[in-house]
Amino acid sequence: MAQLIQDSRTDQTSQVLAVHGGDKVRTIPFPGYRTIGDEEKQAVSRVLDSGVLSQFLGCWHESFYGGPEIQAFEREWATFFGVKHAITVNSATSGLYAAVGALGIEPGDEVIVSPYTMSASATAPLVYNAIPVFADIEEKTYCLSVESVEQRITERTKAIIIVDLFGLPYDAKGINALAKKHGIKVIEDCAQAPGARYNDQYAGTLGDIGVYSLNYHKHIHTGEGGVLVTNNDTLAERLKLIRNHAEAVLPGKYPDPNDWTESNLTNMIGFNYRMTEVDAAIGREQLKKLPKLLEARQNNVNYLNQALGKIPCIQPTTLREEATHAFYIHPIQFNADVAGVHRDVFINAVKAELSPTNLRSGEGVPISTGYVKPLYLLPMYQKRQAYGTGGLPWSLPEYTGSVSYEAGLCPVAERMHTDVLFLNNLIHPELTQADLDDVIQAFQKVWDNRTQLGQGEPAV
Ligand SMILES: *Cc1c(COP(=O)(O)O)cnc(C)c1O
Repeated sequence: MAQLIQDSRTDQTSQVLAVHGGDKVRTIPFPGYRTIGDEEKQAVSRVLDSGVLSQFLGCWHESFYGGPEIQAFEREWATFFGVKHAITVNSATSGLYAAVGALGIEPGDEVIVSPYTMSASATAPLVYNAIPVFADIEEKTYCLSVESVEQRITERTKAIIIVDLFGLPYDAKGINALAKKHGIKVIEDCAQAPGARYNDQYAGTLGDIGVYSLNYHKHIHTGEGGVLVTNNDTLAERLKLIRNHAEAVLPGKYPDPNDWTESNLTNMIGFNYRMTEVDAAIGREQLKKLPKLLEARQNNVNYLNQALGKIPCIQPTTLREEATHAFYIHPIQFNADVAGVHRDVFINAVKAELSPTNLRSGEGVPISTGYVKPLYLLPMYQKRQAYGTGGLPWSLPEYTGSVSYEAGLCPVAERMHTDVLFLNNLIHPELTQADLDDVIQAFQKVWDNRTQLGQGEPAV
């Protein structure tokens, strides 16, 4: 069935889909996303030459706050994002845990979370024996919906962990008003949206505490790492205590036991969430590169959307009027009624036309369907087994609610996962216009030849 034609780009008759043995639109790998260069090498050398790879001390001492690179990185991060405090940590996951702790969330409290996100932004409350309550997402933006969050609020609700999913800031006006009305705190998981704007503010600074990720997959990275931000002095200090062995630090910090008030001891088991001087030095260089990296992504997405938007079964995601999008991932909706085939069959055929990227070739063609399965369907929630085998923390006497994790709980998230949404990662700044044209051509070819689909291509 395979056709003997060298270049499908120059021969109109070669239209057998690659998924059926036809020639691919592209066989050579796409460029990889690489943000590390000479600037980072020099920064790392500076730290290695100093011999001090971390200067943190887990006791009350001036080095409790870390060494020169950590402190400079935190100042620069706070200045860039226009926020009072930035606190580095060793991952955004650690940052989310620290944020829940800093807010004084207690066993049996409820925290409203998204089912459609990286797992840590939903499981963080469990670290403090609090109960994650899943609300549904918005149809168009995939961030938590104000209406659904409101329906989930009870007298036990203490916080919302909201995610700027795929790079779009959450509905800060709606959610923040709701939080204020009910006396609830907002933790903003901004791992995917560094540099996105909401009116005149940066994403990450819209809630009480914001969390950024610096893991290898994110816009800018230090290998692993994260940064917390807040404008609240007390929260900033609590975050720093949780980062660095709080229980051992507090007696030195507050020599008078009368200062050991209930609030400064609550949730003060300290972890080691410290970032190294090496990572901080890399982060300082990465931060300088963020604006350009972001702009290139936005331009690439605009270019793709103009062409892909003309394909009838494809609908690029709309933006919020008040916001810009950081495009960690390029989210796109698929209309199976128009295409005549299921999303997965179509996208599988598109992927068959394309090649992986350098640096991450083992991960295949970076286009995927569905994002994550709604998190409440994970075994931990279905079996209510976070700590031990006795149903903790849901079985705690402190927990007086009755949270549901049943299938069907968040219908929008479920539909996005199974039928509607697909995600394109071929948007990063290293891609040329010719690379993007290959992506467009792959989609166009599958659309033009869609009648071949559903006739025996490999199962997805
Ligand atoms: C990447 C990511 C995280 C976790 O980041 P780490 O730094 O790897 O812990 C959390 N939330 C979201 C939405 C993410 O995309």
